[in-house]
Amino acid sequence: MRAAVLHGPGDLRVEDVDEPAGDVLVRVEAATACGTDVKMLRHGHRVLGPYPSRFGHETAGVRLDTGERVLVGDSVACGACAPCRGGRPQICRAMTWVLGGFAELIAAPAAALHPIPDGLDFAGAAMAEPLAACVHAVARARDADASEAAVLGGGTMGLMIARLLVLEGRDVTVCDRHPERRAQAEAFGARAVEALDEHPLVFEAVGRPEAWRAAVDAAAPGATVVLVGGCPGGTDVALPTGPLHYDELDVRGAFHHSRAEVDRALELLASGAVDWRALAGETIGLDDLGPALRRPAVGDARKLVVDPRR
Ligand SMILES: [Zn+2]
Ligand SMILES: [Zn+2]
Repeated sequence: MRAAVLHGPGDLRVEDVDEPAGDVLVRVEAATACGTDVKMLRHGHRVLGPYPSRFGHETAGVRLDTGERVLVGDSVACGACAPCRGGRPQICRAMTWVLGGFAELIAAPAAALHPIPDGLDFAGAAMAEPLAACVHAVARARDADASEAAVLGGGTMGLMIARLLVLEGRDVTVCDRHPERRAQAEAFGARAVEALDEHPLVFEAVGRPEAWRAAVDAAAPGATVVLVGGCPGGTDVALPTGPLHYDELDVRGAFHHSRAEVDRALELLASGAVDWRALAGETIGLDDLGPALRRPAVGDARKLVVDPRR
C-alpha cells in the first residue's frame, strides 16, 4: 500500500510499504491535516517515534473487518497512571499514539475507534479530532464566569473554539490579522478584530511564544487565560509578573482530549452545530501532501483533506 513516510526533518516520501500490523485495519477515506502535521514534517515531534515514521492523526475510514464507518482516534490513554485515575486521560503518562492516517490503510487498537454518526462525511468526521481538543479547551474554562470571551488566532482551532463559545451563549471576539479569517469568524457568529483589548476569558490558539504573551496581555483583572496552541518544543515564554500577581490571572494549559470529548465533537459535526464544510479546504492525494504542507499559510483558514487513493 502507499503511505506518506517521514524519514527525517523535512524529508517526506510517498512509498510502497507493507500493510500495517495492528488490531483493526481501517481503509482511510479522508485524513485532514493541521499545524501539528506541518510541525512534524519540519521539525519532527515527540510523539512520532523513531524515523522512518508514519503521520496523519485526523483520520476517518472504513473498518476492513466489519465495514463500519469510523473515526480513528489518535490516542488511547493507559487508564492506569495517576492522571488517568484522576479523570484526566488527555495528559496520560503512557499514551499510545495512533498515527499514520496519510496512507491507504491504518492499523488501530479497537479502543481508538469511534463510530461515525449517519450523514456525516468522512472529511467532516476526521475533523472531530481537532474539534475534540477545542471541546476540551472550552471545558478547561468551565468555571470562568464570563459572558464574553476572546480568541487570539483565527486558524481552524481558533475558529472552532470561537464557534463552541458562541454555542455556549457567550459573546465572542476573535482576533486575527488576516481579513479572510475574520470573515470566517463572523460567519461562525463571533465578532472579529485586528487587535484585542481586555477580556475576562481569553483563549490562545496560535502556538507561538509572542501569542502566549499577547493572550496574557489581553486578560482583564481576574481573567482566565487558556493556552491552547503548543509552542515549539523547549520554548520558554516570559510573562509579566504584575498582572499574574496583582490581577490574580488564572493561566492554564489545554491539551488534547478525552474519548468522550471526541464523541461529543462527532455529534456537533453531524448536527451541523459546527459547520465543517466552512473549514474544509482542497482535497489532495498523497503525492501533493508534502508540497501542500510546505506552502505558507495565507488567506482563510481551511484544512487540507487527503484522499490517499486519489
Ligand atoms: Zn491535528
Ligand atoms: Zn494514563
